[in-house]
Amino acid sequence: MKAELLKALRQTDDYVSGQQLCSRFGVSRTAVWKAIRQLQEAGYEIDAVNNRGYRLKSAPDLLTTEEVISRLHTSFMGQNCICLDSVDSTNNYVKKIAENGAAEGTLVFAEEQTGGKGRRGRVWETPKGKNIAMSLLLRPQIHPAHASQLTLLMAMAVREAICVCTGLEAGIKWPNDIVVNGRKVCGILTEMNTEVDYINYVVIGTGINVNQREFPGELREIAGSLCQNLGQETSRAAITAASMDELERLYEIFLQTEDLSALKDGYNQACVNRGHGIRVVERGGAYTGTTEGINDHGELVVRKDSGEEVLVYAGEVSVRGLYGYT
Ligand code: ATP
Repeated sequence: MKAELLKALRQTDDYVSGQQLCSRFGVSRTAVWKAIRQLQEAGYEIDAVNNRGYRLKSAPDLLTTEEVISRLHTSFMGQNCICLDSVDSTNNYVKKIAENGAAEGTLVFAEEQTGGKGRRGRVWETPKGKNIAMSLLLRPQIHPAHASQLTLLMAMAVREAICVCTGLEAGIKWPNDIVVNGRKVCGILTEMNTEVDYINYVVIGTGINVNQREFPGELREIAGSLCQNLGQETSRAAITAASMDELERLYEIFLQTEDLSALKDGYNQACVNRGHGIRVVERGGAYTGTTEGINDHGELVVRKDSGEEVLVYAGEVSVRGLYGYT
């Protein structure tokens, strides 16, 4: 009920009467008052005025299920939401609950990740309580070969959420890093469990650097946070919920064709590599070229300096700018 209560209070800047809340939730005035008290104890500033009701004045930066759910406008994405204090990796956790039948759209986030993962066995580092570490469970009924495009959808959704919630100009470094002012503020790791022609589940893990002020060692060169760019902290729950809102919209469009044909223009407009020199680093070596963006299947279309056009698949390569990370 606390999530619903917050949602009702968030829907208006004005007071919401106690009676309205009672009839909406089918509970007594005492039950409403109790829930309001619990929210106040958790740090919410809620005005309570006789004959007028309740008004939300401010909310603390809590990444709780109530905070996220009360901000969602989705039908299923993120509606089943699990908040953990500490976990090795949110992706691992979601894989386990997926095996036990968890529903599509289930979202798990953790205040602390002790073994955060990046692509190809790399590490995702995030300090406790500052950032977003979340994983989403999807069960798309599409061909397994098309599933890797979902990771680009998530990048589009997170980028949009960052832009809307903070006003920052965020871009996408192909395939799925979000950058602000040339620094990586978000990484995405998609893992899946498939049969030859059937997907059991897809887990999309997303790490967003929100309120971290400094980065250790080597990360200092490439990583950045929203807080560093804004000069102030920002709500992690708002960004989480906005990402889910946008992802649900994009997912419905994607499912119609199982490709990015209707979405690639938007992706390419946001892609920081477009129109620039890039270096494609693959196992055997590296080459340079330019790109105008992705094709309908999310592959990067690269014109090598030799003039040859090649399609780059996300799996095994890293793309860099000619003179740095982007
Ligand atoms: P690229 O292809 O650009 O090399 P990637 O997509 O393979 O990147 P990810 O899997 O997204 O990389 O993330 C892992 C890498 O991200 C690590 O090797 C490290 O360099 C970097 N990294 C780890 N933690 C963070 C963080 N909190 N913020 C930004 N970058 C990070």
